[in-house]
Amino acid sequence: MIKRRDFIKKTGMGALAVGSMVTGAEAFAAKPEFKWKMVTTWPKNFPVLGTNANYLAKTIEQMSGGRIRIKVYGANEFVPAFEAFDAVSRGTAQMGHGAAYYWKGKSEAAQFFTAIPFGMTAQEVNGWLYYGGGIALWEELYDRFNLIPTAAGNTGVQMAGWFRKEINSVDDLKGLKMRIPGLGGEVLKRAGGTPVSLPGGEIFTSLQSGAIDATEWVGPYNDMAFGLYKAAKNYYYPGWHEPGSTLETFINKDAFVQLPSDLQAIVKHACKDANMDMISEFTAKNNMALGTLVNKHKVVLKPLPDDVLKKLHGLSHTVVQEIIDRDSFSKKVYASYNGFQQQAMRWSEVSEYAFMRARLL
Ligand code: CA
Repeated sequence: MIKRRDFIKKTGMGALAVGSMVTGAEAFAAKPEFKWKMVTTWPKNFPVLGTNANYLAKTIEQMSGGRIRIKVYGANEFVPAFEAFDAVSRGTAQMGHGAAYYWKGKSEAAQFFTAIPFGMTAQEVNGWLYYGGGIALWEELYDRFNLIPTAAGNTGVQMAGWFRKEINSVDDLKGLKMRIPGLGGEVLKRAGGTPVSLPGGEIFTSLQSGAIDATEWVGPYNDMAFGLYKAAKNYYYPGWHEPGSTLETFINKDAFVQLPSDLQAIVKHACKDANMDMISEFTAKNNMALGTLVNKHKVVLKPLPDDVLKKLHGLSHTVVQEIIDRDSFSKKVYASYNGFQQQAMRWSEVSEYAFMRARLL
């Protein structure tokens, strides 16, 4: 214990000394004091999700004047996508970038930190995370795994997905074979559908061949990149299952406490910046891609019928209730999340919702 404290102190002192000797551009030439590996769950340079991880690493390097260098690994480059959590937990890598719902096998509560069907939007969920106790609960959960989590991106409201046939009633969900992961998939199952789990790279061919009837992915920008409009024409909204999915970074706790306090602050603030950057990029690119999909590729854009949404909403409550009944930490997280959501909904209704409606009159 004493040895480690000495080490931390020493590293901190070392960082201070370097900080006082070099400034500005010179700092970039400084030898990195901390060389970190960031493992991600995304294919290398995957649009927005993967490139945002690159952006985060670069931001930390720039803000620290090169004192931290982070090498970013795409899925399977250093460890397989779904081993990123364990790799950072062990300290094989110092940092990870992914989505908390991938770790529901570690704790069911993890998935609540990505998204809850019919839950909060990006703006609302950031309110909860930063000012409503969300991050503190997340830290409490990941502490068991020697990890420090934080938000590092948000997709905004996703799309309901691509459907080969129209969805006109609740009955049309019965027997529907759809690629939809996580809680949304569980909800579809209760509605009589068959959720399928497929890696991103296999979605297009499965939809085109009819092996699946429908798929969700992210939103117009990412969906267009996959060419999903060539395999199914009906593009439904809204993404009831992922109303504002939070992407995460998770940092090995031992690696983090070795950083002097200024570098710790840089890492945390860079994550906050990445969180803002991703939603901004998605907003800009989804706007553009939606136009191209509709005008150029003649995609048929449709809202899911109200009775279908109502049915899915009801089933979402059932699915969440079952989780919180069997897992006490999930119950604690959901109580906080839902308490915040109930307040947020009242405010959103008289602010964002009322304004957006007024804007269309
Ligand atoms: Ca999705």
